[in-house]
Amino acid sequence: MKIDILTLFPKMFEGFLSESIMARAIKSGIVEINLIDYREYSNNKHKKVDDYPFGGGAGMVLQVQPVYDALIDIKGYKDALKILVSPQGTQFKQTSAYELSKEKHMIIMCGHYEGYDERIRDYFDMEISIGDYVLTGGELAAMVLVDSVTRVIPNVLNKDESHLNDSFSNNLLEHPHYTRPRSFMGKEVPEVLLNGNHEHIRKWRLEQSLKKTRERRVDLYEMYQKGSKGE
Ligand code: SAM
Repeated sequence: MKIDILTLFPKMFEGFLSESIMARAIKSGIVEINLIDYREYSNNKHKKVDDYPFGGGAGMVLQVQPVYDALIDIKGYKDALKILVSPQGTQFKQTSAYELSKEKHMIIMCGHYEGYDERIRDYFDMEISIGDYVLTGGELAAMVLVDSVTRVIPNVLNKDESHLNDSFSNNLLEHPHYTRPRSFMGKEVPEVLLNGNHEHIRKWRLEQSLKKTRERRVDLYEMYQKGSKGE
């Protein structure tokens, strides 16, 4: 998958792209990430990309010209899925990560300042929010999207595709995990996990998963009961 990220702060991505799963996915060629600083496309002699809002008010507005010019300079942009990250978008979910993982080419636009000139929206296919809070810029949101999408692309994690049991994959939170030691300061690992009976372990994990979801996320639990696959 090719992912182009339009950003004013490419350096913010350095650590993110050079560590762990992301670094491996890039090295193995499963994902290709390009960072494009759209300030470079500004027609302004000072490379400004923001201006005062028409009608007055607080804050500066991101101008349409540099974003448009940067976008159309991306090879294959017409066929790519063009995503604007914004608190006003559709809320991103695990199901969205699976959907997006099927794409061949995505372009993610990171906003800044008070927000976008409304006309920027016309050049993008969808608008995604990572939650009901406001960030300073879209870079963290883009990283959230890229990370969660990349880890569910086949062969990125490992052979047994461990993400299939992750929380939200079936509208349940994942069951508890334990590893060595068996006993830590009087806290014991549940006996069922030690007896090697795979059917008992499967049942226990499902029960724990249901209990956790019912206690913490009634909304998900209700969806699970209805057999819904989520939004
Ligand atoms: N004034 C805008 C509003 O109320 O909708 C918020 C602008 S925010 C300070 C600047 C940029 O950060 C946005 O254009 C967007 O790219 C990004 N951003 C902020 N919160 C976000 C969220 N929850 N999800 C995705 N992107 C977000």
